[in-house]
Amino acid sequence: MISDLLPHFQSVGSNLYSRNMLSMHGGNLSMKSGDKVCITRSGSKLGYLSASDLILTGINSDDENTQLASSELAIHRAIYQKTPFAAVVHAHPIHATVMSGLMEKIVPLDEGGLLFIPEVPVVGFNVKPGPGKFAQEISDTLMQHAVVVVYRHGSFARGMTLEEAFVITELLEISCQMLYLEKTIKN
Ligand SMILES: [Zn+2]
Repeated sequence: MISDLLPHFQSVGSNLYSRNMLSMHGGNLSMKSGDKVCITRSGSKLGYLSASDLILTGINSDDENTQLASSELAIHRAIYQKTPFAAVVHAHPIHATVMSGLMEKIVPLDEGGLLFIPEVPVVGFNVKPGPGKFAQEISDTLMQHAVVVVYRHGSFARGMTLEEAFVITELLEISCQMLYLEKTIKN
């Protein structure tokens, strides 16, 4: 089964890395499969994933693989427990992360952003971020919004596929780059 999922993880991971939305060991990806979650291994390089970087473990219970999973597993699990979505992309897009330190709600200026992500909440505003933190707030917010940004940390986007969640992440980063440029030019 992991071999069927691997090409999706590789394609999205390398796109995120090449588009400057991740550091070498940053971010994590997952897909739901029945009552299991397939998630990237703790410390894996998303730009260069192989089959051994994908960890299959329970959504609702731990097993022998759980400790190998990304440190953000609790957030991915909460999203699958609470929402109907089947894929999650967590990235560290630079402009979106900068904007999350400045405003509690990101509202895009551009048409594409306004159409698909008209309002992006910032979770944990003014609170020190940490791995696995804010699982309930993030999963609650993703019931109504396609993507959220954790304060000065990064984005969590959901979709029915990894590719869909990637497109949302990219839209967010493009919108935030435009917001950043506008703010810079105005000042
Ligand atoms: Zn992160």
